[in-house]
Amino acid sequence: MVFARIRRWLGLGEREGPAVSDEQWARVERRLPFLDFLPAEARPRLRALALEFLATKQFHGAHGLVLDDDMLLGIALQACLPILNIGLRAYAGWVGVVVYPGDFLIPRREYDEAGVLHEYDDEVLGEAWEGGPVLVSWFDGEAQPAGVNVVIHEFAHKLDMENGGVDGLPRLRAGMSRQAWADAFSEAYEAFCEEVDNGGDTEIDPYGSEHPGEFFAVVSEVFFETPSVLMRHFPKVYAQLQQFYGVDPAAGEARLRESAA
Ligand SMILES: [Zn+2]
Repeated sequence: MVFARIRRWLGLGEREGPAVSDEQWARVERRLPFLDFLPAEARPRLRALALEFLATKQFHGAHGLVLDDDMLLGIALQACLPILNIGLRAYAGWVGVVVYPGDFLIPRREYDEAGVLHEYDDEVLGEAWEGGPVLVSWFDGEAQPAGVNVVIHEFAHKLDMENGGVDGLPRLRAGMSRQAWADAFSEAYEAFCEEVDNGGDTEIDPYGSEHPGEFFAVVSEVFFETPSVLMRHFPKVYAQLQQFYGVDPAAGEARLRESAA
C-alpha cells in the first residue's frame, strides 16, 4: 500500500498531479530545523533524493506502528542528508527500513572469552545490518534531544559498511587522504574516550566512546544537527566530514544565527 502511494508521488502510477505538496514538505521539514543549515539550493535535490529513496526501499512498521506519509518523508530526508553529495548508490544492496515506536530490544547471544554463552536483550534506538536492513526508532515530535539523530546515526553506519565492516573509515571521496582521516579521527577519539572516562558531562553523546565506528556515527549526527558543537570540540574531524559529506553546515548555522540577530 505504501508502495502504491510512493508510485503516485513519483507520478508513476495514477494520473495525480504534483505528488508531495509544498505544504506537506514544509510541515515535515519544520520538524528537522537542521536542514536549514544547508544552502537553499540544495533543498530540491534533497527532496528528489528522498522520493527516490522511498521508491527503492521497503518500509515496515514494527510492533504495530502505522507509518504515515509524514513519517516516511521525514525518515527519507534524514537518511538522504548524508548522501546528498555522494548519491543513492552508497545505499545499494539492501532494501529494508524497519521503524519501531521508540526504543526496542534486540536479543543477543555472545560467547565470552571463557566460552560461556551469554543471552540478553539489548535496548537500542537503532541498528544497521551489513547487507541487510536498517532499524530505527521513531520519536514523535520533539522527543529526540538536539544533537542526537537515530536516522543519521544508522545511515552513517551504512556508509561505513560500504567498504566492509564498521571501523569508522568509510569509502572516502576522491582527493581525500586516508592518513588525514585516520589522524584526525584517532586523535579525537582518544581525547573523547579520556573525557568520557573522566566522568564529566560530555556535550557529545558518550556512546561515541564505545568504538571508532560508533564515534564516526555519533560525530556525523553532531555534524548535521549541531555543527558548531563539533567544530568547537574537534575541528579536524569537522573538516574531514565537511570534505566527506560535501557540505558545510556550521557555516549555514552561523549564517542563520546572524540573520536572526
Ligand atoms: Zn551505532
